[in-house]
Amino acid sequence: MPVHPSIVHVALHTPSHSGVGDLLSYASERPLAPGTLVRVPLGSREVLGVVWDADQATGELPDGATLRAIAGMLEGVAPLDAHWRRLVAFAARYYQRALGEVALAALPPQLRDLKPEQLARRLRRPATPAGDTSDTIENIALTAEQESARARIAAEKGPFLLFGSTGSGKTEVYLRCVQEMLEADKGDGFPAQALVMVPEINLTPQLEERFVGRFAPRFGAGAVVSLHSGMTNPQRLKSWLAAHSGSARIVLGTRMAVFASLPGLKLIVVDEEHDPSYKQQEGARYSARDLAIWRGREQGAKVLLGSATPSLESWHASRPPTPEDPEGGRYVRLHMPSRIGAGALARVRRVDMNQQPRRTVFSAPLLQAITERVARGEQSMILLNRRGYAPVLHCVDCGWKSDCPHCSAHQVFHKTDRTLRCHHCGFAVRVPHHCPSCGSPDIHPMGRGTEQLEEQLAALLRNVQRPDGNAARVARIDADTTKAKGALEAQLAQVHAGEVDVLVGTQMIAKGHDFRRITLVAAVQPDGALFSSDFRAPERLFALLMQAAGRAGRDAAYMAAQGTQCEMWVQSFHPQHAVFEALRTHDYPAFATQQLKEREEAAMPPFSYQALVRADARTQEVAQGFLSAATAAAHATGLPGLDLVTLFPPVPLTIQRVANVERAQMLMESPSRAALQRFLAAWQPVLQTTRSQPEHKGLIRWLVDVDPLAI
Ligand code: ADP
Ligand code: ZN
Ligand code: ZN
Repeated sequence: MPVHPSIVHVALHTPSHSGVGDLLSYASERPLAPGTLVRVPLGSREVLGVVWDADQATGELPDGATLRAIAGMLEGVAPLDAHWRRLVAFAARYYQRALGEVALAALPPQLRDLKPEQLARRLRRPATPAGDTSDTIENIALTAEQESARARIAAEKGPFLLFGSTGSGKTEVYLRCVQEMLEADKGDGFPAQALVMVPEINLTPQLEERFVGRFAPRFGAGAVVSLHSGMTNPQRLKSWLAAHSGSARIVLGTRMAVFASLPGLKLIVVDEEHDPSYKQQEGARYSARDLAIWRGREQGAKVLLGSATPSLESWHASRPPTPEDPEGGRYVRLHMPSRIGAGALARVRRVDMNQQPRRTVFSAPLLQAITERVARGEQSMILLNRRGYAPVLHCVDCGWKSDCPHCSAHQVFHKTDRTLRCHHCGFAVRVPHHCPSCGSPDIHPMGRGTEQLEEQLAALLRNVQRPDGNAARVARIDADTTKAKGALEAQLAQVHAGEVDVLVGTQMIAKGHDFRRITLVAAVQPDGALFSSDFRAPERLFALLMQAAGRAGRDAAYMAAQGTQCEMWVQSFHPQHAVFEALRTHDYPAFATQQLKEREEAAMPPFSYQALVRADARTQEVAQGFLSAATAAAHATGLPGLDLVTLFPPVPLTIQRVANVERAQMLMESPSRAALQRFLAAWQPVLQTTRSQPEHKGLIRWLVDVDPLAI
């Protein structure tokens, strides 16, 4: 008897904007459950795909074409569940990308690349032995603040914003919530799972150690897995499969982990929820924090955001009810103001640079303070968010500047390897001995970066001795010193071992690291962010400075033994600025209130919703022309949502040319998220049609950024 093949609708990664619908249809000898991973022919290739629900299908079948058959399914991997598929479908829709692109990007690359035999071999590897479930976990007593947070998280639905100073014991609360969730699992369904996200790969080993230390004895060595882009592809596949099958109970990861298949998900923690690295900056420009909130609600998992300096969005969303605003926000705010085991918060010292001699890098009082600490054997940390020796090289005679030939940016002078390097396109040349324009030997660096700071500080401290009689040692940590694998760990270890007296670095050193002997932190030149065109710049600066201040005085016992007080120094030409005022009193709520008031008056997020469309082309005219034409078409057709969406005119990006590509963007703003979404969905095909018109031939690409972080 002839068998009638079933039709399956498959999500796969087709080139974006290729005009192919979200799902392609294939024939299968037997019906396949949605979520099944399959290999299917696409053109002359064979690619990985995910069987999608038939009712969501807009599956395309060219007229008269016979259905091609699927090539096979991935044996041994259970279908991805409906929660995962809904998450992916939502993310694709919300961030205006193709479903297949988001679905496939959310899977580990090796699922795509391994041959079926190879995958089968991976799946046969023995699972890590389970722990001893009779083992109980020794719990340290929570502080009253921690206990109150824990109890409310247990009792209420959330989502929660845990607002706690650095060192207030937030991580301990995460651990306890995860533990309670795992222990509450009766073992009668899919094993309960937790997802814990951190912003940076660098912070995962430290966290992993704490989670493994706590949970491996009871739940097995394989119960905790990591998922981030610093892992090799085989490691990623292993972690992914462990989460998907339920053998992993806790997944620690960076933003990509929000898409992990976690059928038993009961709890999501987003640590340092304000951190910009939760926002993906290419492909689907998703916010892992926002998706975590969505995922938690959809899958019935509790969501816990944590920060000492929450994003203004989360702060506003967690506002308590008031008489004028009886509803309050949608999140529950939990406050843990006290630091545990650490000394008082750093005392903030502001230096008015208007009172200092011109071109001062280290003001006399700051230098004095650093010197005293070196002499006492304490460590200091100096922050400057600009790597290299100087941001530009300049000719005194003719005014030549080291501009990148491919970008509208300067090439940065790197003294260590004698190069001029563009931080946007990577183009590098040897440092010239003479001005390339007029031949003058009188060329000089202008401004300063971390390399120069390190050099100057070493010179300034050359006669300063540590208590052991050795000369003061200055070290630098930034993206340039940590390129090699393991370099960052090695350099951090030197700091921990006390081999370094003064550490110079970019924001890389401000985040998360548990330095025990740092008692002074200084931001030598933070003013740039105060007057940036980006309305989020003050918020980011404040978070960075608070986080940096949190690196000082982490060990109360050490502080007491030293008889010292920790300090956070800020050198500024605007020492009275609201950002520094709030920093001085460690008053995030005051800062947030002031910023939110400004945002509300200007109808900026979180009081409005934004999206950007960016266009890249060989010329600005083409880039902007495309955006203008698409805008005109939107108005001409009266697209839905448009009545509530403001479209601003196209403008060049701040750095308008990178690698010889001209970039333009336009902003859309709406008081209604739904209206903005409606409009974007309707506009997408218009943008595609506009692109195919001959007058926009020079357009290289366009992309949409929903809820952009940088404008
Ligand atoms: P955060 O994540 O808020 O920066 P941590 O959870 O890392 O804070 O806690 C800071 C320090 O205090 C850590 O060394 C941690 O082991 C310790 N700690 C946390 N909670 C307690 C507690 N209840 N009792 C004693 N020490 C604690
Ligand atoms: Zn010159
Ligand atoms: Zn360049």
